[in-house]
Amino acid sequence: MGEAKKRGTPQERAEQARARLDALRPAQLVCGACKTAFTTFDAIPAPDLRGIDAVFGGQCPSCGNDVLIFKGEPQAVADAMLAWEKMMGADAKLGYQSDDGRHIAFEDKGEELH
Ligand SMILES: [Zn+2]
Repeated sequence: MGEAKKRGTPQERAEQARARLDALRPAQLVCGACKTAFTTFDAIPAPDLRGIDAVFGGQCPSCGNDVLIFKGEPQAVADAMLAWEKMMGADAKLGYQSDDGRHIAFEDKGEELH
């Protein structure tokens, strides 16, 4: 009882959001450094990036490089990538901005680089 198919319950909304994220999720990430493709990566919250639908990132299992991709409007993705590059600098490690503006490094998600 009570199993009527209602629309828009919080749980269903959460499932829809997850389904949307799953739809955006690529089958694999490819490391820019060694071209290794891998499938173990996470969706990254990016609430402040306008025009960006989703961000996915993970660590290359071969060389330890952090790989990050943006999904969204092409122009927004290009802008986000440029902004990210600037933020990273030449040899900074990848990371992301949390809700309160802190920079979160990926380091604690896997082995140390090198
Ligand atoms: Zn790699």
